[in-house]
Amino acid sequence: MLKINDLHASVEDKDILKGINLEVKPGEVHAIMGPNGSGKSTLASVIAGKEDYEVQKGSISFNGEAIEELDAEERAHKGVFLSFQYPVEIPGVSVTNFIKTAINESRKAQGLEEMPAKDMLKLIREKADLLEIDRNFLSRSLNEGFSGGEKKRNEIFQMAMLDPKLAILDETDSGLDIDALRIVANGVNKLKSKDNSVIVITHYQRLLDYIVPDYVHVLYKGKIVKSGTKELAHELEAKGYDWIKEEVNA
Ligand code: ADP
Ligand code: MG
Ligand code: MG
Repeated sequence: MLKINDLHASVEDKDILKGINLEVKPGEVHAIMGPNGSGKSTLASVIAGKEDYEVQKGSISFNGEAIEELDAEERAHKGVFLSFQYPVEIPGVSVTNFIKTAINESRKAQGLEEMPAKDMLKLIREKADLLEIDRNFLSRSLNEGFSGGEKKRNEIFQMAMLDPKLAILDETDSGLDIDALRIVANGVNKLKSKDNSVIVITHYQRLLDYIVPDYVHVLYKGKIVKSGTKELAHELEAKGYDWIKEEVNA
């Protein structure tokens, strides 16, 4: 699915990623952890192809195709989803209308017809039911007055609707409460399948009490300095990051 090889990347002429190697296979959930400022969000942005991030060296391949030259939209069409893409408030545009437009824009860009309204409605209901999202929420204005939990609900709903092959969830929000974490985790657990993959980025071990990752990687100073299974996340919870920093800096 995703294969990253010796990736070096910078933002605003500052070298951030310094040789990332990562392989994510279909059906796998990978957690990327690490202290603040280690480059986690940068990695997410570089995979998604956000502007301002420059790949200096290395490669990113997605389903066997080199994608590092593609723009964010093209990568999204190939099935790469990065959360927090639309954190803006859009008064007067509902959660449903926003996703309808996003889906039809994406179909148009791929040379497909608009999704028939009936099918769209069916899909919306199916995903909302799966995620236990009530109908009132779907008609709310996008992000307007949303709580942390509601923002997460919207994000997971967008992910469910777009049905990405690779979902990257960057849990940067330091204000994430337990409810919001549960919404994210339940959504991911319900949406994951043998054909799609998820990368969850967090520095909170507790998110991983709800989403059980197949692999855990620790990013520090722009490199993956340790990889393991969920036991590694437990170890980090118990011991913090200092021992990892000491190992790396030794
Ligand atoms: P993390 O998500 O692990 O906390 P980030 O990827 O956000 O780390 O940041 C890694 C480093 O890159 C930090 O030193 C941060 O200051 C820097 N950085 C991130 N984005 C930018 C930007 N747009 N401009 C300048 N520096 C940035
Ligand atoms: Mg940060
Ligand atoms: Mg971050």
